[in-house]
Amino acid sequence: MSRLDLGLPRRLALVVEPLPGEALLSWLNIMSAEHGGLPRLRTAQITGVLAGDESRHALGTGSALYYPHAAKVARMRAAAALTELQVTNMLWHRFRGTALYPFGPQWVKETSRTSLLKWWIDPNALRLCPRCVDESGGRWLLAWQLPWVFVCLTHRCYLVGACPVCGRAFTAHGTNPLHGAPHYPPLVNGMRQRQCGARLRELPAVPAQDDELLALQQRLWDALHAPAEGHAESFGLFQDLWAMACLALFTAHPEDLSGADTVVREAFAAFCRTHDGAAGRRFTASELRTPPVLVQTAVIRTAARIVFAEDPLAVADTVAGLSRDPHSAAIIALRKAWNVRPLFLVTRHTTARIKAVMDVADYSGSGHAPPPKRRSRTTTFATDLGER
Ligand SMILES: [Zn+2]
Ligand SMILES: [Zn+2]
Repeated sequence: MSRLDLGLPRRLALVVEPLPGEALLSWLNIMSAEHGGLPRLRTAQITGVLAGDESRHALGTGSALYYPHAAKVARMRAAAALTELQVTNMLWHRFRGTALYPFGPQWVKETSRTSLLKWWIDPNALRLCPRCVDESGGRWLLAWQLPWVFVCLTHRCYLVGACPVCGRAFTAHGTNPLHGAPHYPPLVNGMRQRQCGARLRELPAVPAQDDELLALQQRLWDALHAPAEGHAESFGLFQDLWAMACLALFTAHPEDLSGADTVVREAFAAFCRTHDGAAGRRFTASELRTPPVLVQTAVIRTAARIVFAEDPLAVADTVAGLSRDPHSAAIIALRKAWNVRPLFLVTRHTTARIKAVMDVADYSGSGHAPPPKRRSRTTTFATDLGER
């Protein structure tokens, strides 16, 4: 059978190998540059990422970045001689079982954009290690887009999630650090705002000197890349940390960050100041989904102190005054947030490790009986996870 019969793209003469851990969008950027600045959609077609008749939508919010469909793997092997592992490693599906829900019945087998959004991952968020970006000529790792990666362990510096000149957040779809070119801010009302002139290849690096945080980052990196037999443990760890990170987001104070680098403490202090209210802290859904990288760092660092403590409840008490006042405004605001998107799955799969904390922080005491759907949490385990 000829290639035409199979619908496979032609073999490209010019292929740049993906870097270990590189994101598909980053690889498309370099392939586009190698092909004379070809538009991304066309690049995706000639590399086999998209079938000839797939639209731009499949790259933006559709399926192209998530799941290694057999047809896509075959196309990318034909066009770019990539192995199935190379293809899979560029797609979000690689985090299934660690940062993403591990298994499911047939109808939730596919990893999708919705799966990511449910597990605290914003597929359009982008954080960069300035030094790695310089050394690789503008390429980025998929893992940097996860909330669980905030420091580059090679260069011991914080990832940067927003332009230091204009303050706009980088986005996986709108930012292209490849040629040190100015980035395009996100679309607003369908119009591109004026492009920012900051050179992304010369971002200032902020050193990470906090040994506790560096050790935590190493631990999380290992958990993200655990072999299959370690997935259950990794997934449990991320769920415990996520729940406690939310607790910290709603209740912690900068004083809880003893030993943290000044940039992290200051970022968290500023964030608290702008969100504190008489009825607890208030956040928009997008702030809950993707807090700024240094704020996320602060709350995950605090969460780790709780999760890894010999007595998690004692540490949670020092952060949130949990046992002393389980119905404080801060805790009530947290409980409300836990019940709606984007955090509504956060308390479902926490482990025995933090049970004592969850018994108090989750629904407890008179007037705070759990709503019916939460009372049967364990029996509805499988159906809760419908991902469409
Ligand atoms: Zn780096
Ligand atoms: Zn900018």
